[in-house]
Amino acid sequence: MTTTPTDPGLAAAARVDEARLRGRHEAMARHGARPDGGVNRQAFSAEDAAARSELAAWAAEFGFELYIDPITNLYVRRPGTDPDAAPVMSGSHLDSQPMGGRYDGAYGVLAAFEALQAIAEAAIATRRPIEAVAWANEEGSRFQPGMTGSFVFAGLTPLDQAIAVRDPEGVAIADTLAAMRAATPAAIDRPLGIPVAAYVEAHIEQGPRLEAAAVPIGVVTGIQGARWFAVEVSGDAAHAGTTPRAQRRDALQAAVRMVAALEALTTDPADVVRFTIGRFEVSPGSPNTVPERVLFTIDLRHPEADRLNRFGDAIEGVCREQAGPCGVTVTETQTSMPVVFPDAMRETIRQAAAALGFAYLVLPSGAGHDAKALAAVAPAAMIFIPCEKGISHNPAENAKPADLAAGARVLAKTLVDLANR
Ligand SMILES: [Zn+2]
Repeated sequence: MTTTPTDPGLAAAARVDEARLRGRHEAMARHGARPDGGVNRQAFSAEDAAARSELAAWAAEFGFELYIDPITNLYVRRPGTDPDAAPVMSGSHLDSQPMGGRYDGAYGVLAAFEALQAIAEAAIATRRPIEAVAWANEEGSRFQPGMTGSFVFAGLTPLDQAIAVRDPEGVAIADTLAAMRAATPAAIDRPLGIPVAAYVEAHIEQGPRLEAAAVPIGVVTGIQGARWFAVEVSGDAAHAGTTPRAQRRDALQAAVRMVAALEALTTDPADVVRFTIGRFEVSPGSPNTVPERVLFTIDLRHPEADRLNRFGDAIEGVCREQAGPCGVTVTETQTSMPVVFPDAMRETIRQAAAALGFAYLVLPSGAGHDAKALAAVAPAAMIFIPCEKGISHNPAENAKPADLAAGARVLAKTLVDLANR
C-alpha cells in the first residue's frame, strides 16, 4: 500500500507522470517535425499555431481556464481559493529555432502543464491561481529580437514596437496575430502585465554541467548578462607585392593582434567569462591586396554585473593599444545586464529538490530566457534539467524522460509552496 504524502507539494509531485510528460513532448514535436528528428517551429508560423491549438485542447480536456493577451501569450490557469490573489506563473516558449530540438522551451511549457495536472489530480487547493504560460517568440529566429511575448508582458518593450517587427519576407508580427488568435478560439482575452506573485521557469540546461555531474536538478542563480560590440579596424589597401612593411597599414594584422590581446584579457582561471568573436570580415578580400578594413563582432558574457562592466569597459583600450598604424572604432551594439534571482526563490526550489530526494547543483544560466523579462515584474527563478552533451539549438537535442519528470516534480512542489504563500 502506498501512502499519500501529507505535504501538499509532495502529494502533487507524486502525481507527476513520466510517461505522460514524455508523450506530450512527442506530440508537440510533431508540429514542425524535421526529417532528422528535430523541430522547426518558428514563432507566429502555422506550426506555432498548431502547437498552441494542441496546448489549448489539453487545457480544455482537463477543465483548465485558457487566456490570451494582445501579443498572443497563452495562459492555462487553475484557479486558487482566493479570487483576488495574483497567480503564480510557470512556463517558457513553444517556438523553436529553424534547426531546433524538442525540448528547448517546450519542456518549460509542458513541465508547467504537467505540474498543473498533477496538482489537480492530487485535488490540492492552492490559495493563489497557478498558470502554465507559453510566451510568444522567445527564439527570435524569424522575428528579431526574441523574447517578444515576455518583454511585452513585462512592459520592457512597447506592444506597438514589438508587432511592427518584420521577418525577412516582410511579414510583420502584427500580420500574424489574427491567425495565432484563431488557433485558440476558446481562449479568453485579457490584458498584458497583470500582477504576478512569482514566476518559475523550467528549462533544459543547454550546457554540460548537470549531465557531467550526473545530477538531475539545477537551481539557477540567475541569467548572465551580455555586451555586444562591433569593432572596425581601418588601414590602407595596398599592393601585396610592392608595399614594404614600414609603409603598410594592414587592418588584418592589427585585428589579429587585437583578437589575441582580447583573448588574453578574458581568459579567467575559473572559466566564467564567455568571450566570442563570431563574425570577422576582411575587405577588400583580395589575395594580393593588403587589407584595408576589418569588421569583427564581440559577444561578451558574465553572470556578475561588475565583472561584465569591467571586462567590457577594457575592450576599447585593448584594441587601441594593438592598433599600431591603423585606426579603430569600438561600438557597443547591445547591452543586457545580468539578472540575479532572489535568494528566497532559489531556496524554495532547493528545498523542494531536497524534500523530493533529488541531488542538485547551483549554477547560473549561460543562455537568455523569458525568466529574464519576468524578473523585472515578479520574484523569478529557474529550474534546469540535464540535456545530452549540453547540445541545444540542434535537432540532436535530447533529455532523459526521468530527468524531465524530476524537473516537473520539483516544479510542482515549488508551485504549490509559492501558491500557498
Ligand atoms: Zn529556450
